[in-house]
Amino acid sequence: METHPTSLWEATAGDRPRRPAVAGDIAVDVAIVGGGYTGLWTAYALKTTDPALRVALIEAEQVGFGASGRNGGWVSGKLSGLDMLLADPRGRTSAIRLQREMIDTVSRIGDVIYEEGIDCGWAHGGTIVAATRPPHVDRLKETIELRHAVGFGEDDYRWLDAAEAQERLHTSRSYGASYTPHCAAVDPLRLARGLADAIDRLGVDVYESTPARRIDPGMVRTDHGDVRAEVVVRATEAYTARFPELRRDIVPVYSLMISTPPLDPATWSQLGLQRRETFSDGRKQVIYGQRTDDGRLAFGGRGAPYHFGSRIRPSYDSEPAVFEGLREALVDLFPVLEGVEIDHRWGGPLAVTRDWLPTVTFDRDTKIGWAGGYAGQGVATANLAGRIMSDLILGRDTDITSLPIVGHRSRRWEPEPLRWLGINLGLAMSKHVDRSEDRTGQAPRRRSAVMKRLIGL
Ligand SMILES: Cc1cc2nc3c(=O)[nH]c(=O)nc-3n(C[C@H](O)[C@H](O)[C@H](O)COP(=O)(O)OP(=O)(O)OC[C@H]3O[C@@H](n4cnc5c(N)ncnc54)[C@H](O)[C@@H]3O)c2cc1C
Repeated sequence: METHPTSLWEATAGDRPRRPAVAGDIAVDVAIVGGGYTGLWTAYALKTTDPALRVALIEAEQVGFGASGRNGGWVSGKLSGLDMLLADPRGRTSAIRLQREMIDTVSRIGDVIYEEGIDCGWAHGGTIVAATRPPHVDRLKETIELRHAVGFGEDDYRWLDAAEAQERLHTSRSYGASYTPHCAAVDPLRLARGLADAIDRLGVDVYESTPARRIDPGMVRTDHGDVRAEVVVRATEAYTARFPELRRDIVPVYSLMISTPPLDPATWSQLGLQRRETFSDGRKQVIYGQRTDDGRLAFGGRGAPYHFGSRIRPSYDSEPAVFEGLREALVDLFPVLEGVEIDHRWGGPLAVTRDWLPTVTFDRDTKIGWAGGYAGQGVATANLAGRIMSDLILGRDTDITSLPIVGHRSRRWEPEPLRWLGINLGLAMSKHVDRSEDRTGQAPRRRSAVMKRLIGL
């Protein structure tokens, strides 16, 4: 059997005995398939709103097995596709509401972590995105200007000049940086496990080692028994591609990470991140990092290929060339880390919709709900999605049930081999743009436009 590499989070949090699998037929009011943040927050919102509801959560492996237990730990007020919505005058008002909700969501997550006593290394230090090449400056300033133009202030998003940027993050090259306070760093697995304990306490039945084989109206079929439920929620993110009828709704894209052992205070004084800000830079090929609560550097990026037919395999979580590329990128950003040990390497799939916008949908006829397509920005978004899903299920008309992601349907991805060609071409082009910007110090504008049309990057 193929195994996947152990993440830093798994290695440091340790093994946890699995909860029991479904054993025989059961009946509940709401059955949630998927034990990541979407499933966990949906269960949490349902039970805190209506404690009498009978809710079961069914997880194929173990809570936090998916992206929720392996990610970069950015609890970010960013939402995939939001810049596109904000830039479009027709839907701007609701897009602004969505951005405000995302900002509010970061603090709400912090509140629940505090109330439930979840020990996950929460640090609300914001995000710094450095311009490490000249073309990054315009790109980063654009996202700030877009938000200022629609009413957000300097307190929400601001530009730091090179000296201010260097004060926070000591990168080898600095042309300034964008900064927002609306992000926190966490240990993602400890958050997922803590949430599972919280819903246990609220009386949710959490079943592990129970893959759902079929999801039908009123029924989830598993090898261990049928789960009858008035409402069924699918919270399977990248793994949605494994349901044949949903194969083209999202594509699984891999993000990979590496981490260092705890670094000593002298090294940290040469790196910065005193407030444990999460960090990135303005390159096309996404990179992200955080200073963990035990003083390591956890660093990731999206250089891995898309696999034909939207396949997901444990072996895809490990790409030696991508890990090496991440190490090189890390040392290029922080030369003081030359020779540093990399003690964990891992990865996992996230889900991207064709238009890069997530969805939270509840079909009132079939009483099936689904949420996801967060495109690598799901840690906070899944909390908002869970609260929306709970309101939709309970028939509550609230401020968040009219947000533009509610009921959103993206067009489907192209059939293969077009999908494989398009996505991998887009990924190769983003790498090419970064290299070219590195060499020339200028953005190749025409290629960026083509790339945007191809995969929305
Ligand atoms: C390496 C990496 C880094 C990332 N970094 C960040 C970050 O820093 N910030 C951020 O906002 N986002 C990040 N993301 C994305 C974020 O982790 C996800 O968007 C989010 O965790 C999705 O949560 P989810 O519950 O929808 O899906 P998942 O966490 O993937 O959970 C889905 C669950 O469903 C289960 N499942 C699937 N099929 C079945 C079935 N048939 N029956 C039963 N159970 C099933 C799976 O086992 C899995 O546990 C990252 C993702 C990766 C992979």
